[in-house]
Amino acid sequence: MWACTVRNCGLPLTLDERRAHCPSGHAFDRARQGYINLLQPQDRRSLQPGDSPEIVAARARHVARGLTDPILDAIVSLNLPGPIVDVGAGEGALVRRLGASGFDLSPAAMATAARTAPSLTFVVANADRRWPLLDGSVGSITAVNARVDGVEARRVLRPDGRVVLAVAGTDDLDGLRTAALGAAPDRPRLDGWVERLRPHFELQATKHVAVRVTLDEAAARDVLIATWRGRHGPLSRASEAGAIETTLSWDLAVFAAAQPRG
Ligand SMILES: [Zn+2]
Repeated sequence: MWACTVRNCGLPLTLDERRAHCPSGHAFDRARQGYINLLQPQDRRSLQPGDSPEIVAARARHVARGLTDPILDAIVSLNLPGPIVDVGAGEGALVRRLGASGFDLSPAAMATAARTAPSLTFVVANADRRWPLLDGSVGSITAVNARVDGVEARRVLRPDGRVVLAVAGTDDLDGLRTAALGAAPDRPRLDGWVERLRPHFELQATKHVAVRVTLDEAAARDVLIATWRGRHGPLSRASEAGAIETTLSWDLAVFAAAQPRG
């Protein structure tokens, strides 16, 4: 399923306990934490690409509180065809629930994910570039709050493959945004993401998943770190508010490959 990322190679990778290697002799060692870094220097924008360790740790605590369970449960219940690859896999919560594989630009995220699920495959790769996956080798692509390139998704999926997107709903974090920003303007987002996948995919179903929760100060702080990337104004304003009642919501969309007409 995985493909060599050395320029002009693209041959199948064989993964073992120590490394991944292709028939041309290109090899990628496993990091001490268990993930494999397939990022090539030209696909790296900065020395610390992707989410920082601080953001990854905040998201891991958020997941550990069960606050992402509603969307994870909704995706698991779709019974997607495998193998499944989660794009922008973060600290690996969905990959663990699905028994899938995942990739993410952040080495800190993939280190955390690999430590918590040593038997699953986590790869560092840039979702905005060519994906390190073979043509037609994947049953389903999932992406929670992560960009999916329609051309790449169509290339790596089998003809019967599925794409599942989950993005923050318009009412997501309404209470928290009011506390942190003084207002909770609607955030219509799913439509734009759906457009990105045309004309490669047909929208099959959508679902709004929402829960109402009370976040204590630590839980609210972790959401803010993960959402506002540690910008201090919103953080300090929300901290003053103490416990915050808020909605957590997601819009889920399921796509199938568009069949050629005629
Ligand atoms: Zn190679």
